[in-house]
Amino acid sequence: MNVQTQIRAAEPVATEHFDVLIAGAGISGVGAAYHLTTQCPGTSFVVLETQKTFGGTWSTHRYPGIRSDSDLHTFGYRFKPWTSAPIASAAEILKYMGEVIEENDLNRHIRYRHTITAAKWSNETNLWTIDATRIDTGERLRFTTNFFWMCQGYYRHDAGYTPEWTDMAKFKGTVVHPQTWPDDLDYKGKRVVVIGSGATAATLIPAMAKDAGHVTMLQRSPTYFRTGRNAIEIAEELRRLQVDEAWIHEIVRRKILFEQDAFTKRTFADPEGAKKDLLAAVEAVLGKDYDIATHFTPSYRPWRQRIAFVPDADLFQAIKGGKASVVTDEIDRFTEKGILLKSGKELEADIIITATGFHLSANGGIDFEIDGKPLDFKDTVTYRGMMFTGVPNLVWVFGYFRASWTLRVDLVGDFVCRMLKHMKTTGVNKVTPALRPEDHNMPLLPWIDPENFNPGYMMRGMHLLPKRGDKPEWQHNQDYWAEKDEFPAIDLDDKAFVYG
Ligand SMILES: Cc1cc2nc3c(=O)[nH]c(=O)nc-3n(C[C@H](O)[C@H](O)[C@H](O)COP(=O)(O)OP(=O)(O)OC[C@H]3O[C@@H](n4cnc5c(N)ncnc54)[C@H](O)[C@@H]3O)c2cc1C
Repeated sequence: MNVQTQIRAAEPVATEHFDVLIAGAGISGVGAAYHLTTQCPGTSFVVLETQKTFGGTWSTHRYPGIRSDSDLHTFGYRFKPWTSAPIASAAEILKYMGEVIEENDLNRHIRYRHTITAAKWSNETNLWTIDATRIDTGERLRFTTNFFWMCQGYYRHDAGYTPEWTDMAKFKGTVVHPQTWPDDLDYKGKRVVVIGSGATAATLIPAMAKDAGHVTMLQRSPTYFRTGRNAIEIAEELRRLQVDEAWIHEIVRRKILFEQDAFTKRTFADPEGAKKDLLAAVEAVLGKDYDIATHFTPSYRPWRQRIAFVPDADLFQAIKGGKASVVTDEIDRFTEKGILLKSGKELEADIIITATGFHLSANGGIDFEIDGKPLDFKDTVTYRGMMFTGVPNLVWVFGYFRASWTLRVDLVGDFVCRMLKHMKTTGVNKVTPALRPEDHNMPLLPWIDPENFNPGYMMRGMHLLPKRGDKPEWQHNQDYWAEKDEFPAIDLDDKAFVYG
């Protein structure tokens, strides 16, 4: 019997009630707790978190060099200034989150090692019943809540995604997925092959190259990267002028967001120009003789997948210095000594790192029911990527891909608090998104348009996600610049919200 089955088998022993229950203490859950505390004082709430500490992504991932790939002025919350270099290590992000928890006395609301297993809504009581298990004691707990705020992220934390390659078992060395990094992995002087070319590979490779014998990045196809100094000039200048950090945070956020928006628009209006600029920055480090056409020139338009920032060009410096190299080829099969490529070449390795992505998870492994009927989110239509048709009193925080995730944590936080206050003043217990008469002939489409954004984990898991419509209300448009104005203007009396 696996742990989940055992967890589900035992009976709960206690029931507690909270106005709001938050799933997860990652950057979204901690942000949700902050907004509730500051915008809805007096609201009782609890945060249930599987892991033994806060941080989510930033405590799960422990591979060498783990860092953000977007700047912390926008990945940080709008309410707490970021005062260091823009690209930050997981340790720095955890320190920042720890300060938010400490400064706002949030710890008393968070219960660690609590896994939510089931969430059942009753239209009779207008409550969610949430079953959870303490993973340290096995104790079953039951909560009831008026409002369920899902901050459980978008991927499974227990295991990463590794494709099944032929003869993997034959390999005599060690295979590691970055999501489950062994603390005692010794790679000093070893030959390492990293399969993948996303942000994780770009982070791992320069960090490992310092001690490894050699690190090879094996990619099927290239990825775009941005590169530059890990510093923001205007922030440095304002600091020299002793400007208040809160001002610096706000000014730098606006500048970064403005520039990101301009760049995103350019990737649609002038994809070739944007591509040329990205590749020129790589060539500036690797030199004209390096085969950039093969190894760093993707076939897709920039921004169709997230573009990772490579601070101080460290990935390219490792390649230039000969400590790392890139092979663009396909895996035929594993061998005792390494990997046989489709080209016929064999890559020998002591350690193979599969930086091959995530398992998308829309529901945090939670079994959902509404009035005794199983709920599958793929059968719903999303209201602005945060609520779902037919699902009362529930919000899911799904951030941005092209901009920092946390920008949306703050926007959704404002929305939920406004909605909770509206429900309180109008004396209603339930809000359920529903298609309006004018929406009934609307085409129902996948969560995100693959023409617009198509990383592997989204493509593998799209069928699990709710549907989107073709109107702004019924989609997650990934556009912070539109949503920053649209969210505060959402009409809570719109017919898309059915109250009861
Ligand atoms: C290596 C890596 C680097 C990234 N870098 C960036 C970046 O630089 N910029 C950016 O914008 N985005 C980045 N992302 C995306 C990133 O995941 C999000 O930005 C953000 O950290 C997600 O925060 P979250 O709190 O929503 O979810 P998570 O960080 O996934 O946290 C969710 C939490 O919920 C808990 N949980 C899940 N299910 C349950 C359950 N059933 N019961 C109880 N608890 C549960 C989990 O244990 C976890 O702690 C990165 C992702 C990865 C993997």
